[in-house]
Amino acid sequence: MYTGRFAPSPTGPLHFGSLVAAVASYLEAKKHQGRWLVRMEDVDKPREVKGAADTILHQLEDFGFEWDGAVVYQSQRNDIYATALKQLNAQQLIYPCTCTRKEIADSSHQIGIDGMIYPRTCLNHPLKSNAAMALRIRTDNRECSFTDAIQGTITQYLATQVGDFILKRADGLFAYQLAVVADDAQQEVTHIVRGADLLDSTPRQIYLQQCLGYQTPHYAHVPVASNAAGEKLSKQTLASALDEANANYQLFHALSFLGQNPPAEIKNATLSEVWRWAFTYWQLSQAPKTRSLHLSD
Ligand code: GLU
Ligand code: ZN
Repeated sequence: MYTGRFAPSPTGPLHFGSLVAAVASYLEAKKHQGRWLVRMEDVDKPREVKGAADTILHQLEDFGFEWDGAVVYQSQRNDIYATALKQLNAQQLIYPCTCTRKEIADSSHQIGIDGMIYPRTCLNHPLKSNAAMALRIRTDNRECSFTDAIQGTITQYLATQVGDFILKRADGLFAYQLAVVADDAQQEVTHIVRGADLLDSTPRQIYLQQCLGYQTPHYAHVPVASNAAGEKLSKQTLASALDEANANYQLFHALSFLGQNPPAEIKNATLSEVWRWAFTYWQLSQAPKTRSLHLSD
């Protein structure tokens, strides 16, 4: 069965950029008579903002989203991530790393798509005792390629473009890359529709799926909304929180952003009328084929 999901991180209330991802994943699931799950990605507890998870769920309700089943919280699923890690460890893919950020910065000269490429110091040299350990996965230099329903074919060489990445941090927390892959598999998610800021993470996630023997879901990455300065709208760029008071207008705006060309007549329609229009006319193929799109007001 088609199973989609929306997986917000509770680091603040939803803003327009997160609404776009929620709308696209929701409409695509509805179009396929599928399930739509909500998963709270609170694996990184120190980054969580108190109360944000509840705020997000209320905002989703106020916008008229209806999710299937109970909301899943990553913070309660460490056993699932530990099992996945064990399985990777049994394949000798995992090794401990005691390097500090500074040591990596001093020893690595290669910059990848997501920061420094880890120079494999701890793989090649014995451990310093008593140091806090992160766990990394070995990446090989095979080509990792997939076809995104919106962005087309994406190819990455993990070893040279990303490097051996962390699955469990030195502070004991599981990394997003591992948690998201274990959760999507455990929840039998078949279709992932999310923001294109995660496009570069997808080859890492597919690599983990392959190592773990999981099926790779279908991917569609919608453009992220950027401000006039070209920065992604996020809690960091202080994007304003959604205002549920004019949810109908914001939904209309999200549909426009997603290339759906909603007719001007529904601009002032009620929220349920805008949803009705969207359920009828939603076409993923209309979404702009770009990673980022300037938000005009
Ligand atoms: N929790 C992630 C975020 O809010 C999204 C993860 C995903 O959709 O895979 O950026
Ligand atoms: Zn190291």
